[in-house]
Amino acid sequence: MAAPYSIHTSTLFDPKIKAFVSDISITVDPVSGLIVEVSKRTPTSLGASVPPGDIDLRGKTVFPGFVDAHTHIFVHSYEERSSLVQKRDESIVERIIRAVSHCRTALLSGYTTYRDLGSESMQESDAQVRDCINRGLIPGPRLFVATRALASTGSYEPRTENHANGVCLPRGGEVIDGVDEAQRAVRRRIAAGADIIKFYADYRRRMMRYPPTQQHPYIHSALHPPAEPNPDVLVFAQEEMDMIVKEAKLGQIPVSCHANTLEGAMMAVNSGVNTIEHALFGNKELYELMIQKNCILVPTLAIYERIHKARFKDILNQTKLAYELGVRLACGGDTGTFPHGQGVREMELMIEAGIPLEDVLESCTIGGWEACGKDLCGMRFGWFQKGVRADIVALQTDPREDKFALRSVDFVMKDGVVWKQDGKGVGIFADDHKWDQ
Ligand SMILES: [Zn+2]
Repeated sequence: MAAPYSIHTSTLFDPKIKAFVSDISITVDPVSGLIVEVSKRTPTSLGASVPPGDIDLRGKTVFPGFVDAHTHIFVHSYEERSSLVQKRDESIVERIIRAVSHCRTALLSGYTTYRDLGSESMQESDAQVRDCINRGLIPGPRLFVATRALASTGSYEPRTENHANGVCLPRGGEVIDGVDEAQRAVRRRIAAGADIIKFYADYRRRMMRYPPTQQHPYIHSALHPPAEPNPDVLVFAQEEMDMIVKEAKLGQIPVSCHANTLEGAMMAVNSGVNTIEHALFGNKELYELMIQKNCILVPTLAIYERIHKARFKDILNQTKLAYELGVRLACGGDTGTFPHGQGVREMELMIEAGIPLEDVLESCTIGGWEACGKDLCGMRFGWFQKGVRADIVALQTDPREDKFALRSVDFVMKDGVVWKQDGKGVGIFADDHKWDQ
């Protein structure tokens, strides 16, 4: 379908005004992938059926395509296999095939954009998967990738007890120490295809003292552990963080920072990062600094629900506090550590924290675009306007009435191309292998 065509809706969520509106038609150009017109109809201007070639989404609830602001395409659920075992034991082929499958699942669950924050020992393969999706080889969300996350020696890399020097390959990210290496690493990441720089402000560096049964949830296997066997501690000095951000700004690329300690988060926000991931111990002081520095919070409630059960109520409360104070939120679950295709769990948990539905939907659309660096990412998506990417999702039910509505994705369009219709995959999924050339 090369000519522009229209999508007709009866109930559509407009994230720019955070409200549901009626009788909107959107015209899209599948060649450019852009919205070419958004118009308001009168209720009677369309009959029972729409013009040939158009799409009728009346009776469904329509949204911009969702943006998951924190994902890992090469990771599958830690409940299936630990992070260490995935990195150490799964072949490159298996991990790539899994990623292809994760991308298809994500797209069909309504996510037209993934902000993928670290390839988890797969080097620059995330950039290569991104390019394969962009070339039309496989279906998937539009990817913005970090390639290898930056951390200092021994901070974020697979470790086992069977290595004399404590190093287990392949490494999880890129190891850098000192200001000069920080500068060089950012340059190397950009050259290697990164859209985003990701670094760790802190991590569980002392884990080999009371070895965990696995590396990422915080579960130890020592008989008599202290109260905090594997505490998160800083991995970079302020000067190193400052250089990462300074060099990224020079290269016009946004910076995302993993921070679980309050101290690490404060340092990263002060250095000028665009987003803080997690903020396990976020408080008023941190949130006020984030507001002052225009820093976005990605609370990753969906992974915390699984690995921080004891503190989860507090985590929901602190997320609500961040919202009430006015911190900019983007919706990202650390998807991959729990199954791809269940990304909307993050929206459900933000609602459970007490954030109004409309604000949650806005943080999963426009908020996601802002987390990707706004115009630094080179395109616009996440709302309905001429010149914005034609990403459209429709649900069978209305989330104002049905708390599981976000799980009932009926229709998915990305860049003006339909990938799911009437609840079923279409396009590359259909029998479109023709021999007529
Ligand atoms: Zn993550």
